Amino acid sequence: MASEPTKTLTAQCYCKSTRFTVTVPTSALPLGTHLCSCFICRQVHGTLACFHAPLPTGTSPVFLTPTISIIRYRHSDLAASDRLFCSTCGCHIGDEDIIPDHASGQLEWRVASSIFTEHDESTFQIRSHIFPPTTSVGLHTWLPEINNRKLSSWAPEPNDPNFPILPPPTPTQEFDSDGHERLRGECHCGGVSFTFPRPNHPSFKDDPLVKRYTSPADPQKWLACMDVCNDCRLLTGAHVTAWTFIPLSSISPPLPESLEGYGTLKTYRSSEKVLRGFCGRCGATVFYMSEEERRKVDVAVGILRAPEGAIAEKWLTWRTGKLTYERDGMEFDRVFAEGLKRGLRTWGEGLDGEVLDFEIPLIVSDAIKLHATSPKWPKSPLPRDPKDPPSKRDCCKPKPKTILLARPAAPGQQQPEELSPPVQNTGRITFSMTCVFGETPAPEDPTPAELEPPAEEPPSKRLKIVTTGTDEKADEKVDGLGFQDVWGSKKQMASPNSRRNKDMLWSLIW
Ligand SMILES: [Zn+2]
Ligand SMILES: [Zn+2]
Ligand SMILES: [Zn+2]
Ligand SMILES: [Zn+2]
Repeated sequence: MASEPTKTLTAQCYCKSTRFTVTVPTSALPLGTHLCSCFICRQVHGTLACFHAPLPTGTSPVFLTPTISIIRYRHSDLAASDRLFCSTCGCHIGDEDIIPDHASGQLEWRVASSIFTEHDESTFQIRSHIFPPTTSVGLHTWLPEINNRKLSSWAPEPNDPNFPILPPPTPTQEFDSDGHERLRGECHCGGVSFTFPRPNHPSFKDDPLVKRYTSPADPQKWLACMDVCNDCRLLTGAHVTAWTFIPLSSISPPLPESLEGYGTLKTYRSSEKVLRGFCGRCGATVFYMSEEERRKVDVAVGILRAPEGAIAEKWLTWRTGKLTYERDGMEFDRVFAEGLKRGLRTWGEGLDGEVLDFEIPLIVSDAIKLHATSPKWPKSPLPRDPKDPPSKRDCCKPKPKTILLARPAAPGQQQPEELSPPVQNTGRITFSMTCVFGETPAPEDPTPAELEPPAEEPPSKRLKIVTTGTDEKADEKVDGLGFQDVWGSKKQMASPNSRRNKDMLWSLIW
């Protein structure tokens, strides 16, 4: 008898120390996937939910890498399963039962669907929220449906013997010695625990850094966003990571820039200029530190202990107008990203009467906004080396690229001048960039007539690229290009190939 057809699906964490496959009968596809928003899943992942697909009974992952690199975390004596995560990068890979499932009588697996190389409606289908917070806002509020499919909600009845769960903690408001409120962040195991104040704390008075990360809608709140980038997905093991942005100096106990030696925190350098911090005991993603701005640290919202609930809405103003790195999210799982985007907007409109679409410095450069009126750039993309086309996976292996910025000498402009030697960068995507005044544009890059220089702009003698590294597919990459212009002011920008960024480049060169 012919055996039943099967399909093998592959998963891996960000650092690739953990890779595995699962082989399932095609009749079992798509694998139903649930989003668990229980406090344990939130505090163990650092996200607003985990994304788990139960494997068919009898199916287990086949590991392609040594399992010695995996850490197991058991949340309590009542735990029915171990939670597994990569010891190097902190990515959660799934839960393995330690007591047999009450229905099947077997030890089962739930794998993190977010780390599979394929995730569409034919492989994994997100169908339900489980343990949604009943009295507060959570991911379930922002994701009521996907692909016109309403997601169901499920939680066991209290005292269900099959689900002997701990009651969720009820955090209380904490205060500093002067009576000002502080919010606690703490991973599930408690190995990383800290507090921070509100942005209107008196000690911050007129601090420009604090202002950058303060809500435009409420001076008591910090900014927060929903990030669907590929890096965070493969570092948390969840489709989306919620972040807020806090001045490093306000974290107590003091957090070193290196993130080293802070309780059970482990660090992982996810790119040349980005350091991640996760709990080495329970695996919670806790911090993101960019070397571009070491005075602030991104804090994973999933570990926050706000009395009002999972999204800490009395502390955070959520950007409801867009997802962060939406393009990554759309490429990985379009129906999820579309559903979340829609749900977030709908919630924002209900709350504020409009969606909030503020920029988050170093995530979406506000510098770009400032240059919105800069001269228009030619329509065609920047000339680039045709032998070295951009590809999605470039972000994993640094590869030199050359972008030549060229423009004709404008009437009255001083003679063309080659700008300072390009700075070779070893970021995630490496560019060397040469900026030349006065060179004839490439034939495929015609310069339209409206490219006249602004009359009173001082000529820039030097444009030094201080950092590069971006995925040109994402307009909003964190590791944007940084420029040091002749006046010494540092500016940030993201993808050099997007229209608006070309406009900004243009204005900087000018
Ligand atoms: Zn890893
Ligand atoms: Zn859970
Ligand atoms: Zn922990
Ligand atoms: Zn991210």
